[in-house]
Amino acid sequence: MGCGNVGSALARLLLTDAKRIAERTGVTLELVRVAVRSATKERDVPGVERLITTDGPSVVRDPTIDVVVEVMGGISPARDLVLAALRSGKPVVSANKELLANHGGELWDAASAAGVDLLFEASVAGGVPLIRALRESLAGERIHRVMGIVNGTTNYILTRMAASGATYQEALAEAQGLGFAERDPTADVEGYDAAAKAAILANVAFGAKVVAGDVYREGIAHISGQDIEAAQRLGFVIKLLAVVETGEDGALGVRVHPAMVPRAHPLASVSDSFNAVFIEGDAVGQLMLLGRGAGGPPTASAVLGDLVDAAHNLTVKGAARKLELRAVPIRPIDDLRCAYYLSLFVADRSGVLAAIAGALGRHDVSVRSMEQDAPEPETSVGGPVRPDGALEHEAHLVFVTHPAYERDMQACLHELRRLDTVRRIGSLVRVVGP
Ligand code: NAP
Repeated sequence: MGCGNVGSALARLLLTDAKRIAERTGVTLELVRVAVRSATKERDVPGVERLITTDGPSVVRDPTIDVVVEVMGGISPARDLVLAALRSGKPVVSANKELLANHGGELWDAASAAGVDLLFEASVAGGVPLIRALRESLAGERIHRVMGIVNGTTNYILTRMAASGATYQEALAEAQGLGFAERDPTADVEGYDAAAKAAILANVAFGAKVVAGDVYREGIAHISGQDIEAAQRLGFVIKLLAVVETGEDGALGVRVHPAMVPRAHPLASVSDSFNAVFIEGDAVGQLMLLGRGAGGPPTASAVLGDLVDAAHNLTVKGAARKLELRAVPIRPIDDLRCAYYLSLFVADRSGVLAAIAGALGRHDVSVRSMEQDAPEPETSVGGPVRPDGALEHEAHLVFVTHPAYERDMQACLHELRRLDTVRRIGSLVRVVGP
């Protein structure tokens, strides 16, 4: 199902490399049909034309087909086709994070009822073999936190901003020019794509019934060049992170937002469009998986691995372990406790710091470090005029706090916004802690 970026790379592997795959795995895979939307589109895969059909349901019904691969994306018709395949006893391999993050429960139930595989390695971090590591290698591990850079587009944009001083808009345009970002980049830059993946990570690493809508989400569009520079001065790198973590309260935190990652942390060095996932567990300690999170061939590689597994399980009449999900309380973002980076643009006059310190103190937010940038000429020129006729300069203040509760930090921001000396809040970025 689907012969686009991923499907065509997979078709190429299956049509040109089947002999080697059979020798290596003992499983012979034969591509039988390829369902697409347009029958007339040119496909750059030798030999695929004779397999093309626009009748997806007929593929699912075809009794000669043993395994269905869904790489068409979206919810409809993918959901109906996947359900139909599973219900008719056919294992399914899917790369579709949107489908799994919104309808995973019913799909895993259908797979379980039919006793067949539903495998989805490619749905998170593309070519990085992460799902299998979590489901199999770490099956018995007590995992505390899974924290990842799971969106290559935003990682590319943030990397370019840091490396070249490009603005967010310039870096986005460059990513679009290179094909790393869609013409409508909302799903990536607003964190929707990463939120879907965070939900799947919560399913797999914690067995938790979490859907995309449960994930707290913030994107990167508000991150400025000044934030990137301040992060560098302070020893951090800004990354869009998907974080899934347990706490002492037994609740699960599931969130996607930009974060200040200490430069010494392994995730800080993951640049360009690479993905990486950092896993922390009781016995295993810390480990990181890194690789290509997108692109046809890397993603097709992950799909192929699943396909070999599904085919092998069919031949031995055994399905993969079921994914048992249980309802767990999701920790509201207000209950998060972490350190914060806070950037404020304020009137450059006496008494400003005391007013800000007062607001922070009233909300139990204590400051670890503070620095003041030189006033920005362009923001100062147009600034307000004081009663004595002098132009009032604007100062940029950057704070890093000690750990504080999100609800206190938000209440503090509310108060800061009402101070006449605070012209605007630049950014609030959570700092990755131990
Ligand atoms: P794509 O290039 O847009 O390809 C989608 C394919 O599905 C096309 O061949 C299209 O047919 C077919 N299709 C779409 N709607 C259809 C319909 N209603 N009926 C029949 N066929 C339909 O997508 P992609 O980039 O390969 O991504 C596929 C899936 O993999 C998505 O779920 C995506 O999230 C996931 N994924 C992609 C990547 C990546 O790097 N691209 C990485 C990880 C996961 P036509 O060719 O005729 O238009």
